[in-house]
Amino acid sequence: MTKVINTINDDILSENICFIPTMGAIHEGHLSLVDIGKETNLKTLVSIFLNRRQFNNDDDFKNYPIEHEQDIQFLKSRGVDFIFLPQDSYIYPSEGVPSIVPSKVGSILEGASRPGHFEGVLTVVNRLFDLIKPSHAVFGKKDAQQLFLIKDMVSRLDLNIEIIEGEIFRDINGLALSSRNKHLSHDAKLIAANIFKSLQKVSKEINLGKSFEESVELGINSLNQNEIDLDYLEIVDEENFNYPNKYSKKLKLLTAAYVENVRLIDNIDIEI
Ligand code: AMP
Repeated sequence: MTKVINTINDDILSENICFIPTMGAIHEGHLSLVDIGKETNLKTLVSIFLNRRQFNNDDDFKNYPIEHEQDIQFLKSRGVDFIFLPQDSYIYPSEGVPSIVPSKVGSILEGASRPGHFEGVLTVVNRLFDLIKPSHAVFGKKDAQQLFLIKDMVSRLDLNIEIIEGEIFRDINGLALSSRNKHLSHDAKLIAANIFKSLQKVSKEINLGKSFEESVELGINSLNQNEIDLDYLEIVDEENFNYPNKYSKKLKLLTAAYVENVRLIDNIDIEI
């Protein structure tokens, strides 16, 4: 039986919880994280909280889809134990909550394009961790930089929480599922599927021995040809998010781009 709750009580604190934070508008990507959570055999708790503090753009916040009734149905059908739907004032009481400033990786890529974004993310995730006291938490690799910074926060603050990573869930054309895809027309979704195709193209070129610079340049050209308004396409060493060097073994290629003015992010792992 799924319970919908607005506050965290002692019953929940007495359980070992596997926590899956979301901002709602639940899709199969979120539900794939729920499935991973259920494999732990702990009680699963999904939060739905649209965190104002991580939006650096008012319109983006105001336009974010809110579908609580449908979210609850989806999560119930996947057997989630607790759905946590807190009020703003519960998460951010008047006495304030500690702000968590990200390490320097927080100021590149998404952090450079969206100032304050990662401080907002880490602050709310830390607050939710503090309220729920989970033993495990599941995050998607879709938000790779966010995942890196959360693991970094858990280690810096010495939080005793195991972070589990979920693979990116894509539609049949390769478009990574996202709540923001609800703003895309049918045609725009087909255009947006070229984002993943371009990432794959770059990955293939690197594996064929082409230099990082040349390969990324090809990816940029391929994205620009496809009515996609590119913000960045960059390659980093997965270990530290620095530009890769000859010792790098695992790379990440990350991109943010606009299609029909909707900001989309995606990434791909590259083994060399
Ligand atoms: P959000 O509701 O967008 O804040 O996302 C909540 C969690 O779901 C985050 O850990 C995301 O990385 C994850 N997530 C979002 N989209 C996907 C996807 N397509 N595949 C896997 N995980 C995802």
